[in-house]
Amino acid sequence: MPPTAPASRSALRPNLRVAVVGGGIGGLTLGLALRRHGLKAEIYEQAAELAEIGAAVALSANATRELERLGLGPALAAVSTEPTELIFRDGRSGARVAACPVRDGGTYRAKAGAPYYGVHRADLQKVLSGALAGEGLHLGHRLTAIAQTGDAMALRFENGAEVEADLVVGGDGVRSPVRRWITGGERVRYSGTSAFRGVVPMGLLPALPDPQAIQFWMGPDAHLLHYAIGGEADSVNFFAVVEGPRAWTSERWLDAIAPGEHLAGFAGWHPAVIEMIDALPQTHRWGLFVTDPLRRWHRGRAVLMGDSAHAMLPHHGQGANTTIEDAVTLAALLAADGAGDLDGTMRRYQDLRQMRTRTIQRSAWATNRLLHLPDSVGPAALAERDARMRRFPEAFGWIHAFDAQSTVDRAVDPQAA
Ligand SMILES: Cc1cc2nc3c(=O)[nH]c(=O)nc-3n(C[C@H](O)[C@H](O)[C@H](O)COP(=O)(O)OP(=O)(O)OC[C@H]3O[C@@H](n4cnc5c(N)ncnc54)[C@H](O)[C@@H]3O)c2cc1C
Repeated sequence: MPPTAPASRSALRPNLRVAVVGGGIGGLTLGLALRRHGLKAEIYEQAAELAEIGAAVALSANATRELERLGLGPALAAVSTEPTELIFRDGRSGARVAACPVRDGGTYRAKAGAPYYGVHRADLQKVLSGALAGEGLHLGHRLTAIAQTGDAMALRFENGAEVEADLVVGGDGVRSPVRRWITGGERVRYSGTSAFRGVVPMGLLPALPDPQAIQFWMGPDAHLLHYAIGGEADSVNFFAVVEGPRAWTSERWLDAIAPGEHLAGFAGWHPAVIEMIDALPQTHRWGLFVTDPLRRWHRGRAVLMGDSAHAMLPHHGQGANTTIEDAVTLAALLAADGAGDLDGTMRRYQDLRQMRTRTIQRSAWATNRLLHLPDSVGPAALAERDARMRRFPEAFGWIHAFDAQSTVDRAVDPQAA
């Protein structure tokens, strides 16, 4: 259990009006983190109800330690599966290339200080929104316009509502309208890769070895990632990534596919891979989009968090995790900094978050190349990839070991560190 951060700091800005656009993982976590510090947020979400977006998410220690500090540990544990191991396999032969224990022997918790979980997104959303208990959450509010007059931000929503705030936080995802206002441009880019995904009942996967492990199956121009989810580990969330199509022409995230198209990139792969990808009807592929690195995360009285600031390829499983880090950091700074200097607060927030998230974004691109290495690179390069995968826990321990709350505490009060 990580050391618990102070339940409530004396808020120097108790009347600060914070409007969060987006009630996703980031917006909801920010609402809870602000409340812990005695601050209040109004959260405006376009959806009429908090429905499941995507399938599942892997939460690593850098996020679970923060969710535990927010008092969500037991509720989260009840709906999550802790993977037995992290395993990298050859996608065709199924051979174990590299493996390290996670739940087995309590290894991961002992090292990282908090658990690694596979959780259904709908369950995570329920845990977060349940804790918020509807406080300050406004559903059916789609932001359509944003403006600043003096120190006040004015927001207008599609349903006709208008609100004023001292600070607007863009927790509005990869196609963020708040980011458009801050940067003056779109700044979102198709990665050239796409994915098929789903949640499959464990009973449909008889060929799957180590069914409760988190596993990467690697091969030319594609990979499959999966992990078990749910309190009973009764389902497996999978995510099969392929190179291409070259350009994304659909207006949406999803594009319809021809029958069988989802298997084309996996011809000749291990039966467990085919069985999983083909277990449920696949009618669409997901385009994977990323945010270009932003020079500034804030303008005037508006600031970004989560995917709006740093959407990344999901190959380190860090989009949601770093979003939770952002929320904890921003809340702590808003609570600790002196009243009136919001510009300074936002600069400090960006300073604390930009380098880390950019490094993970870059690393996720590099991991994409490694996971998709074609045979044409030759046996020596493939052996070097395998060796790198065996060093994975040491090489990427810094991602999971990160402690956002301690980092912001040290920034706020270096003497207390
Ligand atoms: C296939 C895939 C697998 C992934 N797997 C993982 C993983 O294992 N681990 C991990 O850490 N991350 C993972 N991620 C990334 C993760 O899902 C995101 O990084 C995370 O959800 C970002 O949270 P967010 O709150 O910034 O944005 P979101 O969760 O996208 O929430 C944004 C919210 O803003 C709302 N919104 C948008 N526009 C408006 C508007 N105009 N007005 C009002 N509301 C608006 C949306 O409806 C939405 O609810 C994955 C991503 C993908 C695509």
